[in-house]
Amino acid sequence: MNFLSTRGASPALGFSAALAMGLAPDGGLYVPRHIPRLDAEALPADCAANTLSALLAPLLASGDPLRPHLPALCAEACDFPLPLKALGEDRAWLLELFHGRTAAFKDLAAGFLAAALSRLRAIDAPAQTVLVATSGDTGAAVAAAFHRRPGFRVVVLYPEGRVSPAQAHSLGAFGDNVQAVAVQGSFDDCQRLVKQALADIELRAQAPLLSANSISLGRWLPQMAYYAWHALRFQRTHGESINLIVPTGNLGNAMAALLARAMGLPIGEIRLATNANPTLDAFARGSAYTPRDAIATLANAMDVGAPSNFERLRWLAGGEDRRIRELVRVQRVDDERIRATLAEAEARHGTLPCPHTACGLAVLEDLRGTGDARPWLVAATAHPSKFTEVVAPYARNPITPPAAFAALLAKPSEAATMAADSTALASVLRG
Ligand SMILES: *Cc1c(COP(=O)(O)O)cnc(C)c1O
Repeated sequence: MNFLSTRGASPALGFSAALAMGLAPDGGLYVPRHIPRLDAEALPADCAANTLSALLAPLLASGDPLRPHLPALCAEACDFPLPLKALGEDRAWLLELFHGRTAAFKDLAAGFLAAALSRLRAIDAPAQTVLVATSGDTGAAVAAAFHRRPGFRVVVLYPEGRVSPAQAHSLGAFGDNVQAVAVQGSFDDCQRLVKQALADIELRAQAPLLSANSISLGRWLPQMAYYAWHALRFQRTHGESINLIVPTGNLGNAMAALLARAMGLPIGEIRLATNANPTLDAFARGSAYTPRDAIATLANAMDVGAPSNFERLRWLAGGEDRRIRELVRVQRVDDERIRATLAEAEARHGTLPCPHTACGLAVLEDLRGTGDARPWLVAATAHPSKFTEVVAPYARNPITPPAAFAALLAKPSEAATMAADSTALASVLRG
C-alpha cells in the first residue's frame, strides 16, 4: 500500500484506490509513502508519455489494477504537443502547455484522470456524476476529458458572469453527458455547494458522485510529464539542469514539478509566480502560513487565497516551514504588473501570453534584471485566446485560438442557471 494521507489518520491505500477516493477520509491529501529515487540517465525521453509512465510505475504496486494499463493511460493523457517556444532572449523558453482540447495545461492531467477512472469502472456499475466547481479552466478540462465516456456524467458549476466569455461558452458547448450550470454567486459559493453535496450521504446514495478537483492524485501526478520530459531532454542536449517558473494558484502544477525534482529529475530552481493574492508570498517571506479569502485579479484561474495543495508542500518539506522556503521561491505579480508585462510582451519576448503566463514572464524579467543568466522554462498555462478581453488591447495581430479550442467555440452553447443553494443543486444531481 503506497499512499498515505497528509493528516495521518486514514488507512494507507494503493494508487488506484487512493485515486478513486479523491480526498482521504480524514480530510487530508494522498501522498506517496516513500518518494522513489530514479536514475535520470536511465529514463526514457523519447516522448512525454513514456517519461510519465516510467515515473509513475514505481508508485503503483505490482498488483494495482491500473498497472498493466499505465503506458496506454499515459499515451491517452499526453495526446497533444508540448512544445518549447524560444523567448526573445537567450536561454529562456515558454513551455506551451495549452495545445490540448480546452487550451489550458489542465487538459493533460484531467485526461489521465478520466482515462484511469474509466478503466477502474466495472461495466455494470451505476453511472457516476463528476461534480466540479470552476473559476474557468478546470471545468472545461474535466468536461472535455469525460465527454461521451460511458458511465459518467459531468456537472460543472461556475459563477455566473465571473468567468471569461470564451470560458463560459466552452463550458456550455459540450452537451451530451456534460451539464453546465451558471450559479448566481461567487466561485467560493460553487466550491461550497460541491463540498456540501459530496458530504451528503443520502444524496450520494441516490446519485453516486465523484470529485475531480486539483487535489486528486489523478490530477497531481500526471503533471510531472511535461517537466520531467523537458528536463531530461534539456540535460541531454545542454548538459545542465533546467530551471522552472510556474504560474501558481492551488499549487497543483507546482507540486508536480517539485515531486519530479525530488524523484531525481534534473531540475534546478523552481520559482512560483502568483498573482496579487498574497498567501504564498507572505509565507515565503517568513510569516506564518495564513489562508485568506481570494481576491479577484486579471489572472483569474490563480485567484486562490488558501492553496489546496499546501499540505502536500508541507509534507514534501518534512513539515518544516524553513525547509519549504528552501524548496521554492515565490514572487507575487499584481494586476498593474500583469498589464505592463502584456504591453511589452510582443516586443520583448516575441509572444503574447495569457495573464497567468504573464505573471511567469514578469518573474523571468526580474531575474534577468538582477543579472541571472541561467536557463529557464516558463510554464505557459493557457492560450491567450481564453482571455481575449484582457489581452486584446496589447495584441498586434488578431488572436486565433488553437484548432481544438476553436472547434469548441464554434459549437452552440447552453447552460442552466441556478441559485447558490444546495437544494437546487440536489435536484440537478438527481434529475
Ligand atoms: C489552474 C490554472 C493555474 C494555476 O494552477 P494550480 O495548479 O492551481 O497552481 C494557472 N494558470 C492557468 C491558466 C490555470 O488554468
